[in-house]
Amino acid sequence: AAKDAGKNTWYFFVPAFQEAVNSRLRLEEEIRQGLLRGEFHVHYQPQFDERGHLAGAEALVRWQHPEHGLMIPGHFIGAAEQAGLLQQLDHWVLVEACHQLAAWSGHPVMGSVPVSVNISAVQLHQGDFSTQVMGVLAETGAPANLLMLELTESVLVRDMALAIAHMEALRVHGVRFALDDFGTGYSSLSYLQQLPLDELKIDQSFVRSLPADTGSLVIIRAITALAESFGFDVIAEGVETDAQHTLLASNGCRYFQGYLFAQPMPAEALTTLATTLPRNERHAAASGIRRR
Ligand code: C2E
Ligand code: MG
Ligand code: MG
Ligand code: MG
Repeated sequence: AAKDAGKNTWYFFVPAFQEAVNSRLRLEEEIRQGLLRGEFHVHYQPQFDERGHLAGAEALVRWQHPEHGLMIPGHFIGAAEQAGLLQQLDHWVLVEACHQLAAWSGHPVMGSVPVSVNISAVQLHQGDFSTQVMGVLAETGAPANLLMLELTESVLVRDMALAIAHMEALRVHGVRFALDDFGTGYSSLSYLQQLPLDELKIDQSFVRSLPADTGSLVIIRAITALAESFGFDVIAEGVETDAQHTLLASNGCRYFQGYLFAQPMPAEALTTLATTLPRNERHAAASGIRRR
């Protein structure tokens, strides 16, 4: 009977499996074509300080698919990685974000707003990663001190020594680093001491469960205390409600990103938004490498 069941399972799953393979291959081919056809775009989600001043923007890739419309990374990053296209996609995003940084450089507000770019494991673990980034900065004319690279813990633990070497090489030129989704990875705290970081990003999973979940609040307090002792800025992502914002602010979080303030948007929309926001006096003094 077991044999029969096995047989049935086999016959049953072949078409489904084949369909999955076909659709993945189709998606991979579409990503390849989409890159060539200019279907990918970068949206920018603003980040704010405790006074509501614009403190930064995160570059987030979007795919304007000819049939499916606007697609978010969750729908295609996995396929891009499987197809070996993630490195190409990430490089494209970095170039695009740096072109935008250069375009904003003369702007009275946007000219001093740092832009964060997400860096994946495949990208960072290329031997010449830091050289590539320096090349992109030189080609685009983007100011290095306004570029922040977001890494995740999983990216870093893979080859800590190589990661640190790239970080140090870029840091000399003013490039800064944030640790994304902090608190969800292999949080051995000793590596915080070794890494040349500037910012910790509290993962949205902790923010989402506020204000009800006291456990998350305990973790958030620990993160802000840790950031303070190491001299890192701390930013919360996924802030959706006033209650979350208030609680985060009163527990040592100084920067905020989330739908409560703004969704990711095209560069032009952010430029427009920026000119309607309260002016940050520090912007007049300009080039400051640190946000605070
Ligand atoms: P992430 O780097 O942690 O980015 C934050 C994500 O949270 C973004 O999703 C953003 O749109 C979303 N978000 C912002 N505010 C809120 C909020 O208030 N509520 C909720 N529920 N979500 C919020 P997105 O754009 O879909 O990106 C998802 C992830 O994909 C990113 O997470 C990042 O890990 C990755 N990603 C995005 N762009 C790139 C890229 O260019 N390269 C690579 N390698 N990864 C990217
Ligand atoms: Mg990020
Ligand atoms: Mg994140
Ligand atoms: Mg996240």
